[in-house]
Amino acid sequence: MKLYNIKENDEQVSFGQAVRQGLGRNQGLFFPAELPKFDDVDALLAEDFVTRSSKILSALIGDELSADKVNSMVDAAFQFPAPIKSVKDGVYALELFHGPTLAFKDFGGRFMAQSLAAVSDGGKITILTATSGDTGAAVAHAFYGMEDINVVILYPKGKISPLQEKLFCTLGKNIHTVAIDGDFDACQALVKQAFDDAALREEIGLNSANSINISRLMAQICYYFEAASQMSKQERENLVVSVPSGNFGNLTAGLLAKALGLPIKRFIAATNENDTVPRYLETGKWEPKPTVATTSNAMDVSQPNNWPRIEELCQLKGWGLDTLGKGKVSDEQSAESVRDLKAQGYLCEPHGAIAYRLLDEQLQDGETGLFLCTAHPAKFKEVVDDILGSDIDLPGPLAKHAAMELLSEDLANDFNALKEVLRRVQ
Ligand SMILES: *Cc1c(COP(=O)(O)O)cnc(C)c1O
Repeated sequence: MKLYNIKENDEQVSFGQAVRQGLGRNQGLFFPAELPKFDDVDALLAEDFVTRSSKILSALIGDELSADKVNSMVDAAFQFPAPIKSVKDGVYALELFHGPTLAFKDFGGRFMAQSLAAVSDGGKITILTATSGDTGAAVAHAFYGMEDINVVILYPKGKISPLQEKLFCTLGKNIHTVAIDGDFDACQALVKQAFDDAALREEIGLNSANSINISRLMAQICYYFEAASQMSKQERENLVVSVPSGNFGNLTAGLLAKALGLPIKRFIAATNENDTVPRYLETGKWEPKPTVATTSNAMDVSQPNNWPRIEELCQLKGWGLDTLGKGKVSDEQSAESVRDLKAQGYLCEPHGAIAYRLLDEQLQDGETGLFLCTAHPAKFKEVVDDILGSDIDLPGPLAKHAAMELLSEDLANDFNALKEVLRRVQ
């Protein structure tokens, strides 16, 4: 598989390099130089999830990894289902939260862990990442127990929900969690400093595992096919998919699925008040505003880092950006939609409810709607209980971790202190 740097097209890398490096020169994103196209999508959809996903990913990766190898990676990564649930006539929810950390990031995180192990040159790897909640948990669980890979996760002390903290700070082994005396921006600044330190980067084999990594997006393509496979042929002919978006990795993966041949009629780019993209699609002007905090906090992003990939793909395929549906939803409106869905017998948290609301508004006669449920309702228990006046149960993994002891260490917001930690955990 060849990929090129969107910003500096002459930089070409293999799948292995793209996975190890994350980003190209000048912070450019890698993009596949060629996309395979599946002619017989119906036959592909008739396969089971792991077999089909292996075929898709193997076609993308090409001869760099054998088909058997890709199959065993997918088998290890995708150990949980992605079911669709009928919410009302012609509208389905795609539940992406049945993995160990109850959010869709488990798919990408776990496949990235497999990919990194597969393309490693035997040297040390240290994953360093800052999290405000979800990503840290997915990365921690994905890399837990893997040989030769150390994971260091920074998070702002006292600023993530206690439940979220328990989910990834109770693992131990090769997972080291550090509570920084500062906010999320301070954590991100420390990570950036570490990546800017070339000597340190080399010494400990630094890698970020963030959503920029192409292996994460590739894994996410597979569940769009999985959703379509659970519908009748007639239903999936006129399919509209609504994607609750933050950094826009999920929507990029959906558009890639379409490019590979999955017949999706239309996508809806759904955001909360952080609406840089819907405004851009409306006015043609890219004008990020300061990020505002919402109840769908995993989408509180005003400078979405995957957007250049969407522009690149649409341009390559001749898809006008005006064919993308769009919209933003306020906290009040998403709460209303959580209640609306509950009244229809479906429990949903605000991220999914935002996608549902815009789908419901924009779906036309004869179309089938699918909205992505990116997190388990219990992962946002405080918000959901507040909206519904409920006391929802914690599912198994959350309940188990909630009872375990925190293993994090506290650290000052200081780069030298972080360096010591990074060297110590080797
Ligand atoms: C990360 C996340 C999103 C946003 O996904 P992107 O791929 O960054 O657009 C939406 N919902 C939840 C629950 C998330 O964790």
